[in-house]
Amino acid sequence: MRNGVFIIVAAVAVSALAGSMAFAKPDQVDGFNVPEGRIPQQIKDNRYPRTYFPGTEQLGEAEMRITALGTGMPNQSPSNVAASFLVELGNGESFLFDLGTGATDRLAGLEADYSRLDKVFASHLHTDHVGDVAALWVSGWLNGRYTPLHVYGPSGSSPELGTKVHVDHIREAWAWDVTSRTGILPNAGGEIVVHEFDFAKTAVIYEENGVKVTAFPAIHIRDGSVSFRLDWNGLSFVFGGDSVPNKWFAKEAKNADVVVHECFFTPEQWMAIAGFPYKRAYWVTSQIHTPPEGFGKLMSMVKPRMAVAYHYWNHRDIELEIFERVRKTYDGPLTMSDDLTVLNVTREHIEVREVTFNHEAWPMGTSKAWDSAPRGEPATALMSEWLREGQLEGVIPPPTQPMD
Ligand SMILES: [Zn+2]
Ligand SMILES: [Zn+2]
Repeated sequence: MRNGVFIIVAAVAVSALAGSMAFAKPDQVDGFNVPEGRIPQQIKDNRYPRTYFPGTEQLGEAEMRITALGTGMPNQSPSNVAASFLVELGNGESFLFDLGTGATDRLAGLEADYSRLDKVFASHLHTDHVGDVAALWVSGWLNGRYTPLHVYGPSGSSPELGTKVHVDHIREAWAWDVTSRTGILPNAGGEIVVHEFDFAKTAVIYEENGVKVTAFPAIHIRDGSVSFRLDWNGLSFVFGGDSVPNKWFAKEAKNADVVVHECFFTPEQWMAIAGFPYKRAYWVTSQIHTPPEGFGKLMSMVKPRMAVAYHYWNHRDIELEIFERVRKTYDGPLTMSDDLTVLNVTREHIEVREVTFNHEAWPMGTSKAWDSAPRGEPATALMSEWLREGQLEGVIPPPTQPMD
């Protein structure tokens, strides 16, 4: 009897799984892909839920949502993966500012619509700022992107240190992977397109659909680091990659709505964390990066509607000291960001919350547009004949459905 009950329960579970697998496609709500069965609500009178559940809120037409995907270091902590901020706009466009190692895990948790994640703006070529570009290139393609991935990034002091060569090498390094998927996935999604710009100039490097992104120089170890400012619909978002406080940032961030800037460990903290002697710890924390008092002083100069600090571990013993030191030099609006801090921004209001996500989230699935995007012929000659002939006969079950 007990066995009989078990078998019935197991059968129901299997058929439920088979059902959801067969229909793993997003729903369309007002032209947006959302996970199946989820209906995003409009937020009225700034009455946001206490936490943000991905895919449950409709962005207002004049609203910007900024999600910190990663706020940590090249040597990651499970609570803080490396640098990345996602900016979603009420016009339906999405922008990724940096995509450090681990950031794509956070996108998975957000159940992101990968067809919109087609632009990465790289502040510089440290792994904690671009380490997941190849991961997004391929996982986004599998998860619904049927157009190329565009990477915008700075030149270096010589061509081989610039973003173009970096992306060209990503393309070459992953040739085995990408060419193996030819014909199975949409052709265009397998392309990665690089847009290198002069790191030394303040210049508009992207302008489409009322969105303008300006890049300007940053001071970080060597030539080839920048920061960005995004302007849209009267709202501004400024993203500082790694840098010591500098005159370009002070100018471009002045009075902006949301200003994100690195806020590094103190020299003493870095001595304890990394085992560096004071001189080297000071060099790293205060001459390559911006320590907390420097972050505060810079924000006192630029006076944003909201200052956002990142690039440290939010472990309690570290974070409290960083916060106290920032407050010695800045008393304005402040968000000490950790991974999955989310800011909703309109001209009247800024809401700061944390994301609550499902750790067993599935990708929302591809779309009809992805299904019908042009594909080449499946690659058939990638394997030697002798290798194919080594397959054991009669082990793989034959097809159970028509193959045409
Ligand atoms: Zn960094
Ligand atoms: Zn860096």
